[in-house]
Amino acid sequence: MAKIIDGKAVSASVKAAVAQEVAALKEQGISVGLAVVIVGDDPASRIYVNNKKKACASCGIESFEYALSGDTTEEELLELVEKLNQDKKVNGILVQLPLPRQIDEHKVIEAISPKKDVDAFNAVNVGKIMIGDFDFLPCTPSGCMDLIDSTSVSVEGKRCVVIGRSNIVGKPMAMLLLHRNGTVTICHSRTKDLKEICRQADILVAAVGKPNFVTADMVKEGAVVIDVGMNRLENGKLCGDVDFEAVSQVAEWITPVPGGVGPMTIATLMRNTLTAAKIQNGLS
Ligand code: NAP
Repeated sequence: MAKIIDGKAVSASVKAAVAQEVAALKEQGISVGLAVVIVGDDPASRIYVNNKKKACASCGIESFEYALSGDTTEEELLELVEKLNQDKKVNGILVQLPLPRQIDEHKVIEAISPKKDVDAFNAVNVGKIMIGDFDFLPCTPSGCMDLIDSTSVSVEGKRCVVIGRSNIVGKPMAMLLLHRNGTVTICHSRTKDLKEICRQADILVAAVGKPNFVTADMVKEGAVVIDVGMNRLENGKLCGDVDFEAVSQVAEWITPVPGGVGPMTIATLMRNTLTAAKIQNGLS
C-alpha cells in the first residue's frame, strides 16, 4: 500500500517559512504585496482567488484584489497591468486564468513585468527556466518537486514520465526533473504505447485533465506518482487524473486529490511573491 504524500503538511511548512521571512522583512520596514486580478465571475476562478488571498493573509503578505467585470476590454486589463507594474507596493502580479474570450491571454502574460511575474508564465521567465538560471519557478511544477523531495526519493538517474505538455504544467515539470538529472519522457495525446512508457517510470507525473486516466496497469511497482489533475465530477466531487485506490496498491508514494498538488501550488505562489519582494529590494 502506497504512502501518502501529504500536500497539506508540506505546504503548511513552506507557508510557515515564508511567513517567518515576511515578518523579518516587515521589521526592516519592507512589506510584501501580491496583486490578484480576476476578470469575470467564473466560480472555479473565484475559489482559487479566495484561496490565494487567504494564503497571503496567513503569510503576512498584503493582497490587493482587482475584480473586473466579464466585459472588461483587453486594453483596460493591459492598462491595469501596467499600473501594477509601476506600483511599488505590488511585488507580484497574478492574473487568474482563464480570461474572457475578448482578451488575448498571451498579450496579458507578456505585459506583466518579468520581475513581478510570480506565476513564471512570461516568456522571459520561461526562457530562464529552460537554461536553468531563474528567479521564479512556475507554481505547480515547483510544488510537485517539493512533494517529490518530501519522499526523500532522489530524482537523479531516475526514469521520469510526465503525461501532459502544457506550458504551465507538463513542459516546465519535465524541465525541472531534467535539471535534477532525471531521464525524462514527455507524453501527450499523440503518444503511442503510453501504457508501456508509463510503466517504466520511477517517477510518474500526471497532468492530463481526465479523471482516473492513470490506471494501476500503467504504474511500475514502487513508483512515485504525482497527480496534478483537478477534475470536477458531475456530482461536484474533485477527482485527480490518477485512479487513486487502484494505483495506491502498486505505487510506493502517491499524492491524493484533494490535499496533494493543489495546496503546494498556492504555497509556491507565496514563496515566489517573497522572492520577488527580496529581489525588488536588492536583498537577493
Ligand atoms: P491542458 O493544457 O489541457 O493539457 C493537458 C495535456 O494532457 C495535453 O498536453 C494533452 O496532450 C494531454 N493529453 C490529453 N489527453 C491525453 C491522452 N489521452 N493521452 C496522453 N496525453 C493526453 O491541461 P493543464 O493546464 O496542463 O492541466 C492538466 C490538469 O492539471 C488539469 O486537470 C488541471 O485542472 C490540473 N491543474 C492543477 C493544478 C493544481 O494546482 N493542482 C494547476 C494547474 C493545472 P496534447 O498536448 O497532445 O493535447
